[in-house]
Amino acid sequence: MTAFWLAFSIFFLWYGIGIAIGYHRLLSHHSYKCKKIFEYFWILGGYLAYQGSPIWWTAMHRAHHKHVDTELDPHSPGFGLWRGYAGWIWPHTRAYPDHIKPRLQCKDLYRNKLYEFLEQDGSFNRATTLNLLTAFIFHSTTSLIFGWQVGLAGLLASIVMFQIPLIVNTCCHIPQLGYKGFPSTDDSVNVWWLGILAVGEGWHNNHHAFPGLARTGLRPYELDLSWMVIRAGKVLGLVTHMNEPVMIKDSCINSAASVPIPVVAEAVRR
Ligand SMILES: [Zn+2]
Ligand SMILES: [Zn+2]
Repeated sequence: MTAFWLAFSIFFLWYGIGIAIGYHRLLSHHSYKCKKIFEYFWILGGYLAYQGSPIWWTAMHRAHHKHVDTELDPHSPGFGLWRGYAGWIWPHTRAYPDHIKPRLQCKDLYRNKLYEFLEQDGSFNRATTLNLLTAFIFHSTTSLIFGWQVGLAGLLASIVMFQIPLIVNTCCHIPQLGYKGFPSTDDSVNVWWLGILAVGEGWHNNHHAFPGLARTGLRPYELDLSWMVIRAGKVLGLVTHMNEPVMIKDSCINSAASVPIPVVAEAVRR
């Protein structure tokens, strides 16, 4: 049983951090730059948690930021909890709503042949099948090499982790469930338990305030495990640049929770 839970924890972190710093902070926001080996390692983690084509994920996420909490936002819970959670994915008849044009909005990712292949010409069904098949091969191989306990741990962790971004999308846009670290016109809030469970992604209001930053946890108590991994990558020479917050000394504003916090200057881009 120890082997099972150890494997589950490792897979859970790989998948979760893969979504956070692979799909989200790297591909969707370019909040840092890294070596390809670092990129693909984390993207694979997210892919094994059924996040689908990286181009599809990025197109949807960029539309979420652009149209946040309006009708054009793919998954605003303001238009129904089910739509916020998974109704924007199922039932599915086509890959994209009319206002989302991945070839225009994700030109950067189309330059990568692997991501173009995983996108399967915009066919949601084909891209999903490819994702499920890859995960099946991975879990089967893991079982054969390391035993059924490890294989089962990887499979269960992937099913659990698949839910986490859907829960973030929903709960972090319900104002009653969290606090605002920064004033914003959208409904985004920081939800502490998702900050932990989603390895930093639950500090969602911070992220909407500064989407270009590689770091989302901005107060001392906002644990951002994914940011630590990016920093570790920098130490190891695998991350070559990251957009860090610049804390302005002695400048404080009050959050909704009346906690004094440092003002964060605009992200520094290369
Ligand atoms: Zn959001
Ligand atoms: Zn984002």
